[in-house]
Amino acid sequence: MQTLRSFLMGEWVAGAGESRLFHDAATGAELGSVASGGHDLCGALAWGREHGGKALRGMSFAERGAVLKAMSVVLHDHREVLIDVSRHGGTTRGDAKFDIDGAAATLSYYAYLGKSLGEKRFLVDGDAEPLLRSKRFVGQHLRLPRRGIAVHINAFNFPAWGMAEKAAVALLAGVPVLSKPGTATAPLAAKIVELWHEAGLFPEGAFQLLVGSAGDLLDHLGPQDCVAFTGGSQTARAIRSNPNIVANNVAVNIEADSLNASVLGPDVEPGSDTWLMFVADVVRDMTQKCGQKCTAVRRIFVPAAVADEVVEILADRLGGQGVGDPADKSTRVGPVASAGQHRSVLAGLDSLSAAADKVWQGEAPSGEGFFVKPTLFRSDRGLDTEYVHEHEVFGPVATVLTWDGSVEALTPMVAAGGGGLVCSVYSNDLAWAGEAVLELAPWHGRVYWGSRKVHDQGPGPGTVLPSLVHGGPGKAGGGSELGGLRGLEFYMPRTAIQADQGLLKRVLG
Ligand code: NAP
Repeated sequence: MQTLRSFLMGEWVAGAGESRLFHDAATGAELGSVASGGHDLCGALAWGREHGGKALRGMSFAERGAVLKAMSVVLHDHREVLIDVSRHGGTTRGDAKFDIDGAAATLSYYAYLGKSLGEKRFLVDGDAEPLLRSKRFVGQHLRLPRRGIAVHINAFNFPAWGMAEKAAVALLAGVPVLSKPGTATAPLAAKIVELWHEAGLFPEGAFQLLVGSAGDLLDHLGPQDCVAFTGGSQTARAIRSNPNIVANNVAVNIEADSLNASVLGPDVEPGSDTWLMFVADVVRDMTQKCGQKCTAVRRIFVPAAVADEVVEILADRLGGQGVGDPADKSTRVGPVASAGQHRSVLAGLDSLSAAADKVWQGEAPSGEGFFVKPTLFRSDRGLDTEYVHEHEVFGPVATVLTWDGSVEALTPMVAAGGGGLVCSVYSNDLAWAGEAVLELAPWHGRVYWGSRKVHDQGPGPGTVLPSLVHGGPGKAGGGSELGGLRGLEFYMPRTAIQADQGLLKRVLG
């Protein structure tokens, strides 16, 4: 049995008090435990601000970028070890690579941005604004790193990528990090942090890890700190309404649930390149990581005229994605990550069964593992379909919804999800697709337009790219991460300096 430890104030320390267990998702066997009581979290935050913040702000963007590059190289060099560690969480080899390579690529991308920003330590935002009638008295916006610490609270589904994408942006901005992974898959996050620290990559205090529950962490945050959270909307509400966070107006970025939509345009012929692109994207998003992706499709909008054909081909393709032991090479879909997630997905399947017609269900091993049968539902009741527009079932599950093919009728149905991370639209009809994309865009952080021109390109709508923003309005949390240099804005708030132009130029260089 493994006991997970946190890395706080420069030391690996085991927590005390009540412990939580983590399991092998494929067998249900207990693998270890984690407790997070007994830590001086107030001290750890202060230590990060004092040592890590000072050190990072003393480094140029290029130097911080070099740290990110080294973090990426460590992941690359230890890829096989990390794939092995991640297996307990139910990931197939392909799913593990997706997580670990995604982490390495994001770190590498931000390392490149750091290099391109060079010797600067903060950002000058736009040109000097002339003030009143004076030629000398100007206002200049700057972006400077927060003087606090960034607390990163991550979901269980991407222990590597989720942790790395947040860390890359904060560290490049010059802000130290205290990262708390989702407990169910924390062993992978802990292993990565262990490798990073063994490699001696960080200035003291720049990166700490808290495994297990968050405890009273949020109660010690101050006005220069920030929280970036990924997880469910209920937890998001608890974090947002934490009295200390409210009292200090601590900046909070939320990435939460999303009922991502996939829309098949009425012009798309069955069997065409665009049709096959749509089918491949839906199947990948329903099955990759067993559907435990924040960007996975949950609602599939198709014109009523082709709904039968859509269900038929999806059932056929989904049937080829074998569910089983993630260590087995022929397995395409592993179990969900934890007993809690298993219960939650099974309850979601029951609720969907009451709201829509179950039109296809695959097989899954029985036994103690956390396996779920991939399932496809269908409803012809659009907006009147209960549950499907409100609840995200975080597994290999989606619902086909039929509609008349008009953008006018489509928009309120997609919007009924309350705001999402990504919506994909498949069409070669310029007028129809142009209108659909622009109508749906305000409801999403990202819109993915699939067409015959790009049918053989790209990783599909479910892959988060560091150069594009990740986040979404409303139900999706209202946050925004990544997006290249845009991601730095959360960690580097804007300040306007009013001063004599000459003096300011001498300070800013
Ligand atoms: P979760 O239960 O909300 O947990 C997320 C994180 O918050 C975990 O680290 C959890 O710790 C921690 N946490 C729980 N209660 C807390 C509290 N009171 N104060 C501070 N931290 C607290 O979500 P999950 O089960 O890990 O992930 C699944 C959900 O995340 C899904 O709804 C999915 O849509 C969403 N998600 C969204 C995105 C996105 O980018 N928008 C990405 C991935 C997942 P413990 O694990 O120790 O409980």
